[in-house]
Amino acid sequence: MKKSLQQIAEWLTIENQSFPETIVTGVSIDTRTITKGDLFIPFRGEAVNGHRFVEQAFEKGAAASLWMIDEPNPPAHLPLIFVEDPELALQKMAECYRNEHQAIFIGITGSNGKTSSKDILAGALSPYFKVQKTIGNFNNQLGLPITILQLDEDTEVSVLEMGMSGFGEIEFLTKLARPHYAIITNIGEAHMQDLGSREGIAKAKFEIVKGLSEEGILFYDGDEPLLQNLVAKTPHLKTQAFGFSQELNLAASQIKATAQGSSFHVEGLIQGDFFISVLGEHQVKNTLSAMLVSKALGLTDEQIREALKKVALTDMRMQLVPVGDLLFINDAYNAAPTSMHAAIQFVEQTTIRNEKWLVLGDMLELGNDEKQMHEGIAAHIHPKEIRYVCLYGPRMKWLYNKLQETFDAEHLVYSENEYAPIIEKIQSHATNESILLVKGSRGMQLEKIIHSIELA
Ligand code: ATP
Ligand code: MG
Repeated sequence: MKKSLQQIAEWLTIENQSFPETIVTGVSIDTRTITKGDLFIPFRGEAVNGHRFVEQAFEKGAAASLWMIDEPNPPAHLPLIFVEDPELALQKMAECYRNEHQAIFIGITGSNGKTSSKDILAGALSPYFKVQKTIGNFNNQLGLPITILQLDEDTEVSVLEMGMSGFGEIEFLTKLARPHYAIITNIGEAHMQDLGSREGIAKAKFEIVKGLSEEGILFYDGDEPLLQNLVAKTPHLKTQAFGFSQELNLAASQIKATAQGSSFHVEGLIQGDFFISVLGEHQVKNTLSAMLVSKALGLTDEQIREALKKVALTDMRMQLVPVGDLLFINDAYNAAPTSMHAAIQFVEQTTIRNEKWLVLGDMLELGNDEKQMHEGIAAHIHPKEIRYVCLYGPRMKWLYNKLQETFDAEHLVYSENEYAPIIEKIQSHATNESILLVKGSRGMQLEKIIHSIELA
């Protein structure tokens, strides 16, 4: 963006302040990542008061800063905009900039696959449009407005990830971003703690339609009955369903995995054979939503096919990582039961390599059912397909206890809080026939296992 302080003050309906001619080209809430021309936004938290960093922000190139009205000692020599609440101001600025902006906005929510879908969609569109997407995981009430305010004025498509942990949050984000298109990737079990049930989760995700523009389309996981029900109850909503059931608007079949990626066939609004260099049926599903959005934006099937061939995903999401003779699938970014099942299923079915290992860490934030959910993974691990299982973390003890019924001690490793026993097992037993899935919640940092073996 490119806004004078006066224009920003108008957005914030601030009167009686006068400003220098300063131009602001972005926003930042963190002096470590500030770029030249940013408007710095200090938050006053319990532990840290961002106002302490305002001087530093200017040293690092900030053009101006917000300042809370009741915060003492504003530096008189710096261009400041005085506000009551910096968070509200940030959101208000994003809303105003959004309303002025000509881009097509696309909002993505769902339990799993938001970031993957965002990366695939942005990748698929980028040969044909100027696309800007949420950076990393900036998907909440601060990250989303910051992402919007970072948009260049000539951006044509903005792909926004919308995350949540409770009711009302997606509603807030979607009303701010007012997407032309919305995607619900799937319904899983994450945040069960706060939302009570999968029905609750589905309803919370479905809030995304509350900000969808009237002509807009919701693209959703058509294999999920909870979403089908919600769609059926919303008759005026334009929707397109994607998934693996053949009657959907876009259905994939004949999925084949190779060491380069996945090939698959689609029927419905788009027809033919496609390829994308990501792994896993669930990633093919994420690709389907990207294809439908591309189609809605006017791309031809051939243009979509060509663009998909070149798409690459963000690190640590079903990423193939060769280390010496070994082949890892680094999916250590995060884990919840649905994504765990999907990833295990992929490993069991793949023909890339034959000796299959699972290196799994705790799934966090699952609420009261966490024991059951960890034990439940056992039903997805078939000893005929999987040779070794290595488990890490206190919660994985539950799965360990279950698996002792089906795996002998030689093929099962458990470690509560050290990577070392798992690393040793891999180094002593894995070979050029092995493929190792590494997956756990973010807090478990299982990628460190791969890194240690890389460095050894
Ligand atoms: P977060 O809530 O942490 O932002 P996210 O929704 O952005 O997560 P990703 O980061 O894309 O999700 O993927 C998280 C995990 O879910 C990965 O392990 C990935 O393999 C898996 N996953 C991705 N898409 C799906 C899907 N459609 N269904 C099930 N699992 C999926
Ligand atoms: Mg994400």
